[in-house]
Amino acid sequence: MSTILIIGAGAAGSVVVKKCLMVPEVFTKIHLASRTLKKCEKLKEESGGKIDISQLDADDSEAVFKLIQKVKPKLVINMALPYQDLSIMDACLKAGVHYLDTANYEPKDEAKFCYKWQWDYQDKFKEKGIMALLGSGFDPGVTNVFCAYAQKELFDEIHYIDIADCNAGDHGHPFATNFNPEINIREITQNGKYWKNGQWIEIPAMSESQEIDFPGVGPKKAYLLYHEELESLIKNIKGIKQIRFWMTFSENYLKHLEVLQNVGMTRIDPVQFEGKEIIPLQFLKSLLPEPSSLGHNYQGKTSIGCIIEGVKDGTPKKIFIYNICDHAECYKEVQSQAVSYTTGVPAMIGAMMILKGIWQGEGVFNIEQFDPQPFMDELNKHGLPWHIKKI
Ligand code: NDP
Repeated sequence: MSTILIIGAGAAGSVVVKKCLMVPEVFTKIHLASRTLKKCEKLKEESGGKIDISQLDADDSEAVFKLIQKVKPKLVINMALPYQDLSIMDACLKAGVHYLDTANYEPKDEAKFCYKWQWDYQDKFKEKGIMALLGSGFDPGVTNVFCAYAQKELFDEIHYIDIADCNAGDHGHPFATNFNPEINIREITQNGKYWKNGQWIEIPAMSESQEIDFPGVGPKKAYLLYHEELESLIKNIKGIKQIRFWMTFSENYLKHLEVLQNVGMTRIDPVQFEGKEIIPLQFLKSLLPEPSSLGHNYQGKTSIGCIIEGVKDGTPKKIFIYNICDHAECYKEVQSQAVSYTTGVPAMIGAMMILKGIWQGEGVFNIEQFDPQPFMDELNKHGLPWHIKKI
């Protein structure tokens, strides 16, 4: 018997609920809690009443703790926003249950994400005899597992990694983000950063690009961004000389983003509006389509993976390890678009690894610290098959 508590009934959380329901032998009881009860009710209806639901403000750690006490889950899957990571981790710690998320903590008032805040829980989780699995989405998540697999099975030495993320889909809206708009825009508008020869190199936002030939999609211009998995991979991939993260954007997306930035709509500091304080980015989020609403009629594919270069048996080697995911296929299966699907499926698989006892530990772990093989096997079974191309 494994009861889980999923927090967050948004685009990716909905996929986690539906994929967990497909593996009832592992996830015997599912409780979903989120800020807006209506979204939980919709998912309960869609699942034929097979889940229990609650309204929850996960910023309130005591409320999360009380719900954990009531539901008695073995694991809490955090599919809310990065802002809630620490309040949920605190509640898990107090209650003595495992924790999993897909994005690292960032404070609301500063567009800065890093693992330090969560890594600081290492001793406390260890003392309590529980584990936290950080970054079990696609990137971070599957991309980290690809790197761990390459380190274990494909290379003797890894020197260069380029994580490459392409969404070549079209949702038909003039401007929309594929995951939470606030988190997405904060990520893209901050400076780019990559690791080279033992140090971080910072560059202005979106100032470096290159064309990458994405499998299943073709050549696309991709921009260098800072992404959280770089911070853990430089620790866990031995001998790495350079690691960078690249993401594609359509011209249309970039045009809208530039205008929104120029007029101040992406600001995260409070401004006075008609006697009230508002945060422009939060106001913008309220105008944009919800990522969970984009799936219908979404055409095209995502192609995401890692270009890895190193040495095997004394010979230089370069590969692209990747997954291609089709928006329309995802919609057919779970009524979501591929970005939420590629996040939700690995969260379900990470949870499965913990509940089956395949991945065990006490403390706080990044996903690449565990044996990648069982996770890679489950990706093939649950809708995210992976491939390797020699370059
Ligand atoms: P959504 O905005 O669609 O969903 C977020 C959900 O969390 C919403 O239902 C929201 O409630 C709920 N929520 C927000 N604040 C609270 C709170 N205080 N208490 C309870 N519930 C709350 O975002 P996504 O589903 O697209 O993204 C979810 C997470 O997945 C994010 O952390 C994102 O960064 C991460 N992600 C990770 C990826 C990866 O590959 N690793 C890729 C894409 C996303 P409400 O409906 O009331 O707003």
